[in-house]
Amino acid sequence: MEKQILSGMTLEELTAFTDSIQESKYRAKQLHNWIYLKSVSSFEEMTDISKKTREKIAELALITDIKIKDKQISTDGTIKYLLEFPDGNCVETVLMRFDNRANLTACVSSQVGCACNCKFCATAKLGFIRNLTPREIVEQVLTIQRDTGLKVTNIVFMGQGEPLLNLDNVLKAIDIFNKDFVIGIRRLTVSTCGIIPQINRLAQLDFQPTLAISLHAPNHELREELMPVEKKYPIDELMNALKNYVGNTGRRITIEYTLIKGFNDTVECAKELAKLLIGLKANINLIIYNPNDKDDFEKPDKISVQKFKYILEQSGKKVTIRLERGSDIDAACGQLSNKYKN
Ligand code: SF4
Repeated sequence: MEKQILSGMTLEELTAFTDSIQESKYRAKQLHNWIYLKSVSSFEEMTDISKKTREKIAELALITDIKIKDKQISTDGTIKYLLEFPDGNCVETVLMRFDNRANLTACVSSQVGCACNCKFCATAKLGFIRNLTPREIVEQVLTIQRDTGLKVTNIVFMGQGEPLLNLDNVLKAIDIFNKDFVIGIRRLTVSTCGIIPQINRLAQLDFQPTLAISLHAPNHELREELMPVEKKYPIDELMNALKNYVGNTGRRITIEYTLIKGFNDTVECAKELAKLLIGLKANINLIIYNPNDKDDFEKPDKISVQKFKYILEQSGKKVTIRLERGSDIDAACGQLSNKYKN
């Protein structure tokens, strides 16, 4: 009989498992606690369960079937993992720490590869391979916790894949992060390149993770050059969907804008962006482009970044510049997978 994988199971599913092996509901709670809150790697570590019962469970189940294929540690504390699933597919997951904050943020993948083909993205070069299951999404965070012994406090869906093109599975994973990991819904962020029908669907839910929009350009023409999704879901329609989302949910959204030298980092672009975002309850997160070996884009210079920020701030928006993490390792999404693929 094939062994069951316990990581990623909800308490109800663990209870069904313990029922099936004639163990009590209390046993399910113990397993749940050891897997999610104590992040153990082996049944031997579950010391409040008798040795005999641990051996019985170990014969029928595994804690996980995911392997760490590669791991890179940056001097700033960022850890990047390449995780391998039993079918041989790999995804990237990153743990980011910020010295001045207690937060530990995991950046998770939602798909193997991606179909969206954004021009600045290393993952796009892999193409789309498959969606991840809820368990495979959840396992990325459990693997980090098991490996480091630390408890993740924030999760961002900004790794490989477009989360809104795998929305059912992403929502199931979010439910597990919220209930089983006990991470508040506002500490869970979903980032999308702008899949309008799914943004409309999120607007109707009873609970909303924080929504981040990868905008990266202030108008249709520039955005179309960077992001093929713009052809299907143009920026004007996207803005309407976002206003509707904020109106329905009351939630502030985040606009992500990657600054690329000479392409979208000009004063004109900043003014156009400020105008575009008038009336939208949003913070802006500026990202400094991190060049990868295969493209023609360049990192913006410091002065143009500061000017861009200043113009947006003058329009009344809160603007942050995302701290560069892991610049000495292959931390940009897709870089590590590409290395292995090659
Ligand atoms: S940036 Fe995100 S949506 Fe665009 S290709 Fe990369 S993974 Fe896909």
